[in-house]
Amino acid sequence: MTLSNTERKIIENSIRDVKDFPKPGIIFKDITTLLSDKEAYGVLMNHLYQRYKGYNLDYIAGIDARGFIFGAALAQMLGIGFVPIRKKGKLPYTTISEKYSLEYGVDEIEVHIDAFSAIPNARVLLIDDLIATGGTANAAAKLIKQAGASCLEACFIIGLNFFDGQKNLKEITNVYSLIEVN
Ligand code: AMP
Repeated sequence: MTLSNTERKIIENSIRDVKDFPKPGIIFKDITTLLSDKEAYGVLMNHLYQRYKGYNLDYIAGIDARGFIFGAALAQMLGIGFVPIRKKGKLPYTTISEKYSLEYGVDEIEVHIDAFSAIPNARVLLIDDLIATGGTANAAAKLIKQAGASCLEACFIIGLNFFDGQKNLKEITNVYSLIEVN
């Protein structure tokens, strides 16, 4: 199931473009204006619920930090658990971690080693607000596998098509972006 044209317009119109943030040349897709718009937030969460209610999921894994907002809300709607995938150094218990490349240098994300262990071969949906180069989501999908679970799909509100992120991620899991930006 994908968005209707009306739903797509409502969500698209609620996302704010901020030029030159956090540095010159970047157009930052600001989803705080989507969250504060009750109609758009409602359309978004209803769509995610309708799409994923039949997937027989065990967990939603959300990426630090905006993936926590939609991910945690969706997990509650679906009646399943939520697992945070966090930037290095934030999770208190034993973790497994994965490094990934940024434009300059490397970054690292982590998940608790036992995050999915209550359910053998747990079925997981990965969520973040946006995919650009796909480095973050790729590392997150690998972590889900290393933690003994299976990543059924990676879902993003926005996919930036001028990067290869979605194409690369499709080699390891299904990818669904509600809004494609060309
Ligand atoms: P990437 O690993 O390159 O796919 O970057 C994805 C991560 O960076 C996500 O967690 C996004 O929230 C954030 N991000 C990257 N580019 C943008 C952008 N233009 N606007 C908003 N967030 C972005």
